[in-house]
Amino acid sequence: MRLILVGPPGAGKGTQAVHLAQHYSIPHISTGDIFRANLKEGTPLGLQAKGYMDKGELVPDSVTNAMVKDRLTHADTANGFLLDGFPRNVAQAEVLRAVLAEKKTPIDAALELSIENAEIIKRLSSRRTCRGCGKVFPGQLDKCDSCGGELYQRDDDKEEVIARRLEVYAEQTAPIIAFYRTEGLLITIPAVGEVSEITGSAIRALSQKLS
Ligand code: AMP
Repeated sequence: MRLILVGPPGAGKGTQAVHLAQHYSIPHISTGDIFRANLKEGTPLGLQAKGYMDKGELVPDSVTNAMVKDRLTHADTANGFLLDGFPRNVAQAEVLRAVLAEKKTPIDAALELSIENAEIIKRLSSRRTCRGCGKVFPGQLDKCDSCGGELYQRDDDKEEVIARRLEVYAEQTAPIIAFYRTEGLLITIPAVGEVSEITGSAIRALSQKLS
């Protein structure tokens, strides 16, 4: 299964990606997580990405595409992968299509998590992320229930940056929905309700599409 998750920040892509990757036994590749891991380790890639991430802007395509192309050469992607946070504009989607066409391993589906703006703002401004494992929590707990790590508010989950991230999504990322619809790959499901219910409807929609 080669799957892309599409949806605005706060739609729950990261949370659903963990469950779907587990269900299909494929690696979860989150460009945001890769950038944050590099930032934490102070690598040149992390430093390059930081300025853009802090402002809620996209990291330049040249940097992001190279990083994803490299990740897709790793052996664990041989049986598929789930991309979370990539592509984030039509140019990235075109690069991905070309890279996968060359390997004769096209995308099976692009799953869109659909959610209203008001709900996004509510979710993003209250969510906390684990410093240890990156798990995301809706409320204001103290510690991660998976690894015991400290929870923090991502700099880009602060209100002033959220507004810019939503603008960037509408202007640059939302057009990929039409791109994947034209490709015949788009599946849209509502991203509200219990996490497990959303995972269930994603799996049902995917098996229907791929049958
Ligand atoms: P995320 O964790 O997916 O919300 O990503 C956090 C930030 O990382 C984004 O706001 C961007 O600055 C950067 N980023 C993640 N994925 C991409 C991408 N595909 N293209 C450009 N920038 C990205």
